[in-house]
Amino acid sequence: MIRVLFVTSEVYPVIKTGGLADVSASLPEALCQQDQDVHILLPGYPAAMAAAKSNGSVRKAQLRIGVHPVTLWQTQLPGSPVMLWLVDCAPLFDRPGNPYQNEEGSDWWDNAHRYYLFARVAAMMGLGQAGLNWIPDVVHCNDWQTGLVPVLMNSGHKRPATVFTIHNLSYQGLFSHETFRALGLPDSLWRFDKLEFHGQLSFIKGGLVFSDHLTTVSPGYADEILSPQLGCGLDGLLRHREHVLTGILNGIDTHQWNPESDPYLDHHYDVDHLVDKRQCRMDLQHQVKLEANSEAPLLGFIGRFVEQKGIDLLLSVLPDFLDKGCQCVILGSGLQEYEQAALELAKQYPRSLSVTLGYDEALAHRITAGADLFVMPSRYEPCGLNQMYSLRYGTLPIVHRVGGLRDSVFDSQNVPVKQANGFAFDRPEPLALQAAIERALDCLGRPKYRQQLQRKGMTGDYSWQVRAEEYIAIYRQILSDRQSIIQN
Ligand code: ADP
Repeated sequence: MIRVLFVTSEVYPVIKTGGLADVSASLPEALCQQDQDVHILLPGYPAAMAAAKSNGSVRKAQLRIGVHPVTLWQTQLPGSPVMLWLVDCAPLFDRPGNPYQNEEGSDWWDNAHRYYLFARVAAMMGLGQAGLNWIPDVVHCNDWQTGLVPVLMNSGHKRPATVFTIHNLSYQGLFSHETFRALGLPDSLWRFDKLEFHGQLSFIKGGLVFSDHLTTVSPGYADEILSPQLGCGLDGLLRHREHVLTGILNGIDTHQWNPESDPYLDHHYDVDHLVDKRQCRMDLQHQVKLEANSEAPLLGFIGRFVEQKGIDLLLSVLPDFLDKGCQCVILGSGLQEYEQAALELAKQYPRSLSVTLGYDEALAHRITAGADLFVMPSRYEPCGLNQMYSLRYGTLPIVHRVGGLRDSVFDSQNVPVKQANGFAFDRPEPLALQAAIERALDCLGRPKYRQQLQRKGMTGDYSWQVRAEEYIAIYRQILSDRQSIIQN
């Protein structure tokens, strides 16, 4: 049994801003199911402290990091067998808003200090310096917020093995040289091959340079980040570390996302009773106040309104399809210009376009079940989860063939028809998206072909089981490598 400390800045259902939270819940659970001893470490945000209070928690250690007293609480991740540790430091984490930003949407001014302290606690636990009787064999870090953990453990001779997973390379945790000094990091780390990145402190470089192994969330993205186009300025470093970089496609929580039993749905269906999916469509039309029309093809979009997700591409082609009698349901939030543009369009098409701004878990499930087609025109996509949710719900995905989207959605233009489960286009441009939507609409008019694609999608394996085994193989490999280093 391998003891794994899984260090993350968000975990579902406690606190979520994106796919990282989903993975941070379901991967540790899958690892536990395969008899590994996994504990999650999370900052003690208000939502986390509240969950701990209602679930029962135990105070495990009292630490002092710089001027800050820190309490380590142990509780259980709600609805999961996985142990959850919380880093309780009220001045840094007891704040409204989301983990990274205040209520106005600006980054917290002291994010470097917040995640440095979090990393210090993780490193103390990793090195057995937190006064606990549980010491991990592997510390598994995720994204820039945890990038300093491998750095802070690096000098320990008997340190645990380290894995760093890139969920999105474009968020790098960049701060000024002044901040680097204020954190008290040693000058020896201010080098282009350590933490310095074009005159700034880069948290993510800590993870990329100092971890024993790197993973990212799909094989496609693992290739793409080695290129200048999608390497975000770090492709050179990643090429240097390519021999320890593995792409593993994320799984999904197949209990939570199951059209047969989804508690957010009023009607359920499975691959042999697809007729009942129509009922979910009517429920959705009713809920978001679209015309109750059983003929109009219904498109869905869920996601952050940022350039990455290509919401602008969708909005640019949508009027044409709405004019032709399609309907569309959009859920998400983000940049004001995109929010404004979406709302404007919804005003013009009140009976066929619904836009909901904000985060709504229930509506996300109902769109996934009720839509006929799910659109993901992401310019880049490390993995993407919604396309897998859609596949499982018999909702045909239309995706830009990039990153994890190209590893999970297969178009008959690229693979034998029997393997196809959706529609993909090659360039993130309006015309290419438009052509793909047209092909998908044509498919809706051919029930047999549509069912064939739905069946392929709904019977695919999106579970974590095999993927968790791949992570375990990596843990074993790096543990044995470290063992030989310590012995020699
Ligand atoms: P990201 O780049 O945002 O992490 P992913 O596709 O990896 O994208 O994961 C996004 C997750 O967040 C999915 O579970 C998706 O359903 C969910 N999600 C995104 N926006 C919303 C929203 N507005 N309401 C509900 N769920 C959302």
